Amino acid sequence: MQTFDFDLFVIGGGSGGVRAARMAAQRGARVALVEVAAMGGTCVNVGCIPKKLYSYAAHFADSFEESHGFGWTGEAPVFNWDVLKTNRAREILRLNGIYNQLLTNAGVTIITGWASLVDGHTVKVEERSFTAKNILVSTGGTPTVPALPGREHIVTSDQMFDLDPFPRRLLVVGGGYIACEFASIFNGLGSEVTLVHRGEKLLTGFDEDVRSFIAAEMEKTGVKLQLASEVTAITKTGDGLQVSLKGGHAGPFTVDSVLYATGRVPNTNGLGLEAAGVKLNSKGAIEINAHYQTSVPSIYALGDVTARLQLTPVALGEAMVVVDQLFGAAAGKKPRCMSYEFVPTAVFTHPNIGTVGYSEAAARKEFGKVSVYRADFKALKHTLSGSTERTLMKLLVEDATDRVVGLHMVGPDAGEIVQGFAVAMKAGATKAVFDSTIGIHPTVAEEFVTMREPVQVLAGSNA
Ligand code: FAD
Ligand code: NDP
Repeated sequence: MQTFDFDLFVIGGGSGGVRAARMAAQRGARVALVEVAAMGGTCVNVGCIPKKLYSYAAHFADSFEESHGFGWTGEAPVFNWDVLKTNRAREILRLNGIYNQLLTNAGVTIITGWASLVDGHTVKVEERSFTAKNILVSTGGTPTVPALPGREHIVTSDQMFDLDPFPRRLLVVGGGYIACEFASIFNGLGSEVTLVHRGEKLLTGFDEDVRSFIAAEMEKTGVKLQLASEVTAITKTGDGLQVSLKGGHAGPFTVDSVLYATGRVPNTNGLGLEAAGVKLNSKGAIEINAHYQTSVPSIYALGDVTARLQLTPVALGEAMVVVDQLFGAAAGKKPRCMSYEFVPTAVFTHPNIGTVGYSEAAARKEFGKVSVYRADFKALKHTLSGSTERTLMKLLVEDATDRVVGLHMVGPDAGEIVQGFAVAMKAGATKAVFDSTIGIHPTVAEEFVTMREPVQVLAGSNA
């Protein structure tokens, strides 16, 4: 029988790779993990965590402003970008250490360097070679920027956390998660922010009401939106970067920094995929089956390198499925597939967006007859705060079954609120269950269990 150095060799120490390596080792497997950069991957180093820390920082600006209506007086404190950067870097370093420690404690062999596949059972890390019964590719993704004159002047989200100096004037290109979040964050921190998006609306794929509502709310906070516009060139001038646009109503703009947030591509280059016989799909992502197996049965792939739902909890969930499949038998685990139905998500704009399930348009397509419940109101806090911020809450109910199939919110802490409702929706909660749930008063969240009358009946409904 062929012997291997390891039972599982994980390439990439991000969300998915670390979880898979740690859990496999805890199940008794001999595991190695190779990482070329800082442990923790995108989420820990240049994604979710630093982004959320900066979002907290930005929220203080509103809080200082809003406190006056509640009797607080005095000037708002002055923001110090260098302090935030230093404190963030210290916290991320601490997390890198924790990830390394968790892996070491679980018995994972950590290897540092760039890995590439040689064949279905062999990985090369620079000059060294390792064999494994199974290999897991979890190499994540990288920002992608279209070709344009002046491309060398732009930054991506990877550089935003350490920009020096602080961008007094920032232009953000894109209308997805990263563009919207960073526009809100830097606006809150004090930049003059203009967001340029090629589409008529932000956040393609989200519910249409949410898309319109968040645009209006972001504009109220001071973010300038240039929709249906495209950047044609960026030129360096004595006063900063001059950005020329086509479409839209304004420009050219002179700014200090230009952030391109135009999507991310899977990290597949230089991995030896072709040599090992691992196929890519039409999106340039690693092709996998429902069990995360690539075209080479001993090689698995998950997370952003497979370009499905690019979210940390999704990569974590996929890692658990792979580990259960490969090493779960002793623990009584049966091979299973991951469900991508009702994956909740939040966009940490100001205010936040929280969403789970179908948009109104997608629900109509899937279920035909759907009832819509919607509330748009000023939260109690803002009766004194002076803020004009409004909150949107929306439920979509399949008429045939009474099941709640879509839940959307734009408002403070929407991510926190929607997480709990996602559990109910996974459990198949009906509108009747929502109606029989007692609210917590006075909260914003109680609105989800007190919306009684559908505001609109979609085309095709028999109601
Ligand atoms: P990654 O975390 O990207 O890890 C891949 C690792 O592989 C990296 O550490 C890389 O260095 C390493 N690697 C690559 N090639 C090699 C090689 N050949 N050899 C050795 N190592 C290699 N998701 C959320 O759920 N919530 C959020 O709030 C959120 N915010 C985000 C904000 C930003 C700005 C970005 C960019 C992403 C955000 N995401 C968020 C998405 C989330 O970060 C990713 O979905 C998640 O990190 C994917 O995990 P992964 O394991 O697939 O890859
Ligand atoms: P997204 O795919 O979310 O958005 C990309 C945006 O760029 C879209 O608005 C797209 O427009 C636009 N775009 C694409 N190509 C071009 C181009 N050539 N010129 C101009 N505009 C272009 O990607 P992001 O980079 O924002 O984020 C990547 C992924 O990371 C997200 O999809 C998400 O899964 C994850 N993420 C999750 C977060 C969270 O959970 N809170 C936060 C940040 C990232 P169009 O809509 O017209 O296609």
